[in-house]
Amino acid sequence: MRHLNHLLLLPRSHEFGDMIEIEHIHKIYRMGRLEVAALNDVSLCIEPGEFVALTGQSGSGKSTLLHILGLLDRPTSGLFRFAGKDVAKLHDKQLAELRSSEIGFVFQQFHLLRRTSALDNVNLPLVYGGARDRQRGLELLARVGLAERTSHRPGELSGGQQQRVAIARSLIRHPRVLLADEPTGNLDSASGREIMSLFRALNAESITVILVTHEASVADVARRQIRVSDGRIESDQRSDVTVSVPALPAATGRAGRRHGLFVRIGAYFTQAGRALLLNKMRTLLSALGIIIGVGAVIGMLSLGEGAQASIANQLSSMGSNRLSIRPDAQSVGGVRRAVGGVSRMTQDQAMEILEKIPLVKATSANITFRAQVVWKNENVNTLIMGAMPGYEVIYDATPSVGRFFTEMENQHRERIAVLGRTVAQNLFGMTNPVGEVVKISSTPFRVIGVLKPRGDQGYWDADDIVVIPLQTALFRMTGKRYVDSIDVAVGDSAMVDEAQTQIVQLFDDWPKTPNALGTGYRISNFASMQEAFTSIFRSISILLAIVAAISLVVGGIGVMNIMLVSVTERTREIGLRKALGANNSDILAQFLVEAVTLCVSGGAIGIGLGATLTYLGSYVTGWSLSVTPGSVILAVGFSVFVGLVFGIWPARKASLLNPIEALRHE
Ligand code: ADP
Ligand code: MG
Repeated sequence: MRHLNHLLLLPRSHEFGDMIEIEHIHKIYRMGRLEVAALNDVSLCIEPGEFVALTGQSGSGKSTLLHILGLLDRPTSGLFRFAGKDVAKLHDKQLAELRSSEIGFVFQQFHLLRRTSALDNVNLPLVYGGARDRQRGLELLARVGLAERTSHRPGELSGGQQQRVAIARSLIRHPRVLLADEPTGNLDSASGREIMSLFRALNAESITVILVTHEASVADVARRQIRVSDGRIESDQRSDVTVSVPALPAATGRAGRRHGLFVRIGAYFTQAGRALLLNKMRTLLSALGIIIGVGAVIGMLSLGEGAQASIANQLSSMGSNRLSIRPDAQSVGGVRRAVGGVSRMTQDQAMEILEKIPLVKATSANITFRAQVVWKNENVNTLIMGAMPGYEVIYDATPSVGRFFTEMENQHRERIAVLGRTVAQNLFGMTNPVGEVVKISSTPFRVIGVLKPRGDQGYWDADDIVVIPLQTALFRMTGKRYVDSIDVAVGDSAMVDEAQTQIVQLFDDWPKTPNALGTGYRISNFASMQEAFTSIFRSISILLAIVAAISLVVGGIGVMNIMLVSVTERTREIGLRKALGANNSDILAQFLVEAVTLCVSGGAIGIGLGATLTYLGSYVTGWSLSVTPGSVILAVGFSVFVGLVFGIWPARKASLLNPIEALRHE
């Protein structure tokens, strides 16, 4: 039986009972050892449609009684039935639901949300239930004479107008009972009279009105006056004043059920956005930790990944499928020295490896020395590499101009040379060197090609080189018989280890270096070097990510601090929301959503910061860096997590506040 107009027409039904029924209510406040009995054995019945004034001296217990009647506070002992329900047996959710759907509250201090328009203040209880009827808020404001003030904020309204907004708010959910604690106490007498005539009109519409006042003129408007003194009812009088009441538009719509989860969550997000925007600077500062944390995570991850890719790239340009065989260092008289000079390796061994091990794609025995290279007046000192044609395959050293030499030319000890890009540029500038004759240590060589650039390898210029046939280098240039190293390219880079094993077996038959330790040879495996590098880099990246994650946690603690401050600062707002029908989980959700919104918006800015860092990083390092979707998901996920974890405590603190204590908070 919800519709208001029906209530008066119906006879009192027995199972329904009175609207409000209290028996032997006590309320005792404990202040340390002192006990204050604010209410002392109060019994009372209030029927639907009554207009009751609670009067009495200040401190007599009027507010305490009203708060109990309004389900904002619980009595210490005694029976309280509200609309037939035993209130003591109701838990938080049911109490909130009753407050929200049955009761409208009007406070002496109005308790409007600052920086929120009159209309939004009126609509506030709809967050916690009721039909989402945009029109009704406007109608109610018109009804209290504020049709022109709907978008004004409380600060832009007079006291009387603010109280009328509060009355409109109390009516938004079609309450059956309207409770008002000194509603005219903060108003001038003219405004007070207006407010009282509003209450009279509402009562004529069959809303039960109970108001607290200490002014006789206000109390006279009521049809029943209950006088409270020292926590007891002193007198209870009914008068039959008939007041002529202006016709009011009938209430439209019906009170709806509680909204679905999504509608409420949506409302929380709107509120959270609003709350955060109201305090932009503080929001920004508290989100700073998250912004820096997320930015750092994203920046670190993409930089780490870029560095790893770049190293891997350099390593593979050095050859992930390559093995290099050198004579081992050995101890001579306790001094460890390289013994390249006493190597017994030859071109034949390189050819043998190629022939006997099918996994091997190409081999080249090499010797290196430094020499002066001269063309006309130009003169450079560079690295001369005596190599076999396999060199072209192993080092991917296909000339961009001209060609590489053949095995035939190598055997014939031809005086021909392939120039590295740097040497070609230093000697010839823009001229095409192919076909020109240069002198290497005074021996004339014909240039047959220029290598394509291999790029800076970090610590040496791989293009500062001249490659000549090994046999030419051995017999025409150095007079050596043995080579410095043998390079081997394996066809499949996954088979490098297998190829290495087979080469070691082959080595056992080779002549050993005099005084050699072990086999006398050392094989460097670039693939395993690369693996080592990659794993080192992975560890470094993880380390950086941990540092970034720590900064996110610190950011989260900052958010928690701000949320705690915000809970304290908005204690009265929490009390108000509870009085308007919010239950504990509504408040919990509101503050959680706020913390999460804070973290997620911080996270969004952090992603921007991370992207900027990445962009700057790729500009500075020359690596091609990109923000990976994984790092964005990680960062956002983490900031939601941080918001939830660090928001829960303040949110829980807020939700557990007793409504009336929260409202009294200074
Ligand atoms: P009224 O509204 O009639 O002025 P109240 O109901 O506010 O009176 O207070 C009744 C009595 O209870 C007063 O003596 C007051 O000091 C005491 N009281 C009210 N609230 C509290 C409280 N939270 N803690 C301790 N004592 C309280
Ligand atoms: Mg009071």
